[in-house]
Amino acid sequence: MFCLPPGEQCLSYPVAGPDNDLRPGHRRCNFLWYRPAPEATELHRLLTDASGHIHELGIPPPLVRPEVIAELREAARALLPPQLAEVVGLTPRPFLQPIYEVETPHMVRGRVALLGDAAYLARPHVAAGVTKAAQDAMALADALQANDEIESALAQFEAARVGINRQVMQRGRDLGSYLQPHPMGASERRKAALHGTPQAVMSEVAVLDFLQAMKSRLRGSFG
Ligand SMILES: Cc1cc2nc3c(=O)[nH]c(=O)nc-3n(C[C@H](O)[C@H](O)[C@H](O)COP(=O)(O)OP(=O)(O)OC[C@H]3O[C@@H](n4cnc5c(N)ncnc54)[C@H](O)[C@@H]3O)c2cc1C
Repeated sequence: MFCLPPGEQCLSYPVAGPDNDLRPGHRRCNFLWYRPAPEATELHRLLTDASGHIHELGIPPPLVRPEVIAELREAARALLPPQLAEVVGLTPRPFLQPIYEVETPHMVRGRVALLGDAAYLARPHVAAGVTKAAQDAMALADALQANDEIESALAQFEAARVGINRQVMQRGRDLGSYLQPHPMGASERRKAALHGTPQAVMSEVAVLDFLQAMKSRLRGSFG
């Protein structure tokens, strides 16, 4: 289920229940609600615990202040359709996660290699964080096997992964362009208009990616 309040995105989907139970009625329901928050003001306020400490990289769920959760439930009632507002209301302990981007200029420096989120942390709309980290790891293993020298192995690894990782970063920026907390320039506004409609979200995030995932899963199963 997708919902697009102005400048925001909320989605919900079933996930496995306890003991990986996939039967309807035994699964859990996950929801995500992307809400722009200017970093120095609103984001810091949300990430501040009851003792006044700001958890910039992410606040542990038990430390999210009750008034922040009450505000979330109130906003859900005001902005979301009743089905999603009910999901938010029934969640005993909603947690929040700030979204940052990380993009390294080099995945390799000397004998050090950066992989996964440490190298490229894309916006979540591409849903590629796990796949990207695993593919980095596989490329590194392949390169180490194919080369006797560490330096040439790392050069091969970096050449294989930088381009695709940059594409994932850009795709995440494009898909999330209409969810930005800061004022946008002309080109960002154009992208926001392009990617922020219900039709674009459904075809670019929901349906197309789902179909592609199913196709690659089938290819994986049948060779
Ligand atoms: C709320 C949330 C939802 C997400 N949902 C999705 C999703 O649906 N699909 C998807 O593809 N991706 C999702 N991601 C992103 C995904 O989790 C990451 O992209 C992925 O885990 C990156 O893998 P990684 O191995 O690079 O880093 P990590 O999985 O973060 O692994 C890094 C490890 O290093 C350890 N570590 C850190 N510092 C040290 C140290 N000094 N010494 C030793 N160990 C250390 C950490 O404890 C951690 O275990 C989500 C992320 C979050 C936060």
